[in-house]
Amino acid sequence: QTPRIADPARTREIMAQYHLRPKKSLGQNFLTNGRVLAEIVAAADLTPADAVIEIGPGIGALTQYLAEAARHVTAFELDQRLLPVLQDTLHDYPNVTIVHQDILDAAPAQLAALAPELNIVANLPYYVTTPILMHFLESGLPIRRMVMMMQKEVADRITADPGSKAYGSLSIAVQIRAQATVAFTVSHTAFNPPPKVDSAVVVFDFLTDPLVPLTEQPFFNKVVTACFAQRRKTIMNNLLNWYGRTPEHRATLTAALSHAGVAPTARAETVSIPAYRALSEKLQPQK
Ligand code: SAM
Repeated sequence: QTPRIADPARTREIMAQYHLRPKKSLGQNFLTNGRVLAEIVAAADLTPADAVIEIGPGIGALTQYLAEAARHVTAFELDQRLLPVLQDTLHDYPNVTIVHQDILDAAPAQLAALAPELNIVANLPYYVTTPILMHFLESGLPIRRMVMMMQKEVADRITADPGSKAYGSLSIAVQIRAQATVAFTVSHTAFNPPPKVDSAVVVFDFLTDPLVPLTEQPFFNKVVTACFAQRRKTIMNNLLNWYGRTPEHRATLTAALSHAGVAPTARAETVSIPAYRALSEKLQPQK
């Protein structure tokens, strides 16, 4: 077996050889634990025929494992300093293409051309988790599965069910488009340098049909945002704040909530996605 890039001593050696100081501003925490890397690749459920997009290869720790599991890996790296490093660490892997580009600037057509069905794997800076996740969920690209390492607290919010404190507009925005599950949690000791927060790997299986049709999503999002505006208030109070407190609005909202099977005294965090959809359908202004 080719030596592992992720071995803690080898990672230190590569960093010393290239005088690499991890950039905090780019969230550079490199994985140095082979077991964690093997588990990420297992969670991606790849076959040797698959093409994979990796976001943020760093010094290539995860890329190496992906290259051994899939037909081809296209890895997007923003930090120019890492290009010569990757060329060196991955020179035994002709099936890896490194692209020096911010993943958010990659044209959808460029990604769609890589394979009829896309797999995305990423250990990302934690501050870009939500923008990158939403970017792909809303992209309309033919994505089969996405596996992402993220801050555990965000993973809990994304995968939360109604009735839990973590359930909110982020859980709903994600779950209408993908089935999201926490595959496993990761200790900070698996990284160099270790991050300050606990991490988790989340698997997203993209739904062929979103739970809320595309055309209805803009209004649906407005309804959900309004309902969660003040978490401690009742859903009726939040909706009245949005609509304006008139008797007519109260009557419209009472009817819509009843249609959705939601008590006016309920809190937003107890309401299921199908109930939000019913509510939004009833409130949607007619064209
Ligand atoms: N995958 C490597 C690993 O697991 O050891 C590195 C992970 S490190 C947490 C995140 C990497 O993403 C860094 O190399 C950083 O430069 C890169 N990066 C940050 N923002 C990016 C973006 N918008 N597009 C592409 N790469 C990005």
